[in-house]
Amino acid sequence: MRKTDGKAEGRSAGKPAREKHYDGTGISPGIAIGAAALADEAPAEFSGPEHHDGDAAPELHRLDEAVRRSQRQLEKLRARLELLSEDSQAEIAPLFDAYRQMLGPSRLLRNARTRIERDGLTADAAVGAECDALVRLLLKGTDGVAADSEEHAAARRRGEEVREIGRRLLRNLARAPFRSFSFAPEGAILVAEQLRPADAALIDPSRVAGVVTDDGGTADHTAIMLRALGIPAVLGVAGISADVASGRTLVVDGGTGRVILDPQPATLDAARGAVLGYARERQRLARLRRLPARLAGGEPVELQANLELPAELPLIVQAGAAGIGLLRTEFLFINAETLPDEAAQMATYRSVIDAMGDDCVTIRLLDWGGEKQSEALGNIGFSVGGQDLNPALGLRGLRLLLRHPEVMETQLSAILRATRDGRVRILLPMVTTGAELAEARAIYDRVVRRLRRRRISLPDPLPPMGIMVETPAAALGAETLALDAQFLAIGTNDLAMYTLAVDRASSDVASLYDPLHPTVLQLIGQTTDAALRLRRPISLCGEIAGNPLVVPLLMGMGLRSFSMNASAIPRVKQVVRGATLDECRRLARRVMEESDPAQVTALLREFAAR
Ligand code: PEP
Ligand code: MG
Repeated sequence: MRKTDGKAEGRSAGKPAREKHYDGTGISPGIAIGAAALADEAPAEFSGPEHHDGDAAPELHRLDEAVRRSQRQLEKLRARLELLSEDSQAEIAPLFDAYRQMLGPSRLLRNARTRIERDGLTADAAVGAECDALVRLLLKGTDGVAADSEEHAAARRRGEEVREIGRRLLRNLARAPFRSFSFAPEGAILVAEQLRPADAALIDPSRVAGVVTDDGGTADHTAIMLRALGIPAVLGVAGISADVASGRTLVVDGGTGRVILDPQPATLDAARGAVLGYARERQRLARLRRLPARLAGGEPVELQANLELPAELPLIVQAGAAGIGLLRTEFLFINAETLPDEAAQMATYRSVIDAMGDDCVTIRLLDWGGEKQSEALGNIGFSVGGQDLNPALGLRGLRLLLRHPEVMETQLSAILRATRDGRVRILLPMVTTGAELAEARAIYDRVVRRLRRRRISLPDPLPPMGIMVETPAAALGAETLALDAQFLAIGTNDLAMYTLAVDRASSDVASLYDPLHPTVLQLIGQTTDAALRLRRPISLCGEIAGNPLVVPLLMGMGLRSFSMNASAIPRVKQVVRGATLDECRRLARRVMEESDPAQVTALLREFAAR
């Protein structure tokens, strides 16, 4: 993170405040101006059961997990202290040491464990009770001591430290969405240390004007959710949640990644002008809606939409998408306490299929794992990333489904019953081997046989089953996989992560995350060539599909089908209509000779400016 003080002194509600500028990763375009609402300020509500069912082990495990997560968060915060002046560091460092001690072999954790084992308390209740007891004990030690004495102040400070750690543990124990953010006043800018995809899914875009977080990268699922909701957002602004208090004015530019705290009047005026300019540009682009997506020479290109949340449907229709190229079904599971049954899933799929009229809908089976969690899946024993040090390399996507075929069967059944004709395709997430694909195919056949036995009428032909190509193994093995897959969809978000060994959700390595890295481009090229040779339909649905700078390159590599955030469609269409196939191919040849990632971007910019 870079943080610079604005040149002029700002003013907020009569109180002079210095204008401060921050740079993070802009992940969802648009400009928002509003009052900050700190997500972490609301108390961690604990409304669950006080006692467990007699089995202490799961509660002890939850506590250990919450401790580990809290330790990791504090380590990150501590690393950021280095950005502060030496004086500030000297002041804050002891506090972090105190926090760290409490999360080590401390009395707080020892006694919380005893309360779980001996008193049958849940981990949450045990932490709450132990924090209360410790604070009482600290204050009792100052009985008879003057309230304004240094001794009293020290006990209060210590008590506050205990409470702070208690709140963090409770938040991490909950692992449920922080809350629905209904506390945020209308038009507020949500500021949080971290937002999980499940949190983002609960944001009401008519209330929240913008989002800024300390953590996060361009291609993580939180970013994808925020883009889906059309909320201007900047992630990876290290230190912002510690700097900003609720009510302070913020300007958020989700395109450039610039965030301004306490803007001075001239900055505010400029930001208001930019908001208007952005709205006008969107209006202009909206006129492209009815024009066909064709290259300048007339070759058709398919521009479809990714769907993360049903709330996006009207936007998708409005954007003139030629169908849905990636329906991420995670939203059905993300904040659910129990698994959605076949009827509920069927109703949801059918509403999407109906809304898309004659256009095709590609439904991806549940892609769980990585940074996503779900209470419903936890309840049936799905353990995602719990024990894994590298959850993205563990049980996720198709691997997880094959461990729980009953979940996959319900989903397949619901899709088949929701499909009235041939406008649906079924997409398998995170495939790495042909054996996985064969196993998935066998399950699909079994579900079809079962439905036929029940005399349920099925679409004819049956929806084709295709694969996501999002690991180097799948890309390098695309030729073999394509023999059995009926279509391919390249997922560059994960493909870049696995190829470069860079976590897509981590702000620490965000600068290394580059889906345009020449090695990633080679894998995209190989996959595309393999699919074209075998005449398998191929599309690309990672975030770069919505990047107008990149699409000419991808078309030059042979791709003709892209699925993206709906709001990106008009701009991409404009670029498609303005390019010829020959110039795209020339661009691709030049780019594919490059080994320097910076040169790739330079060539793309040069092309855009031609
Ligand atoms: C991808 O990995 O590129 C992709 C489209 O899937 P997701 O972002 O949902 O992992
Ligand atoms: Mg993926």
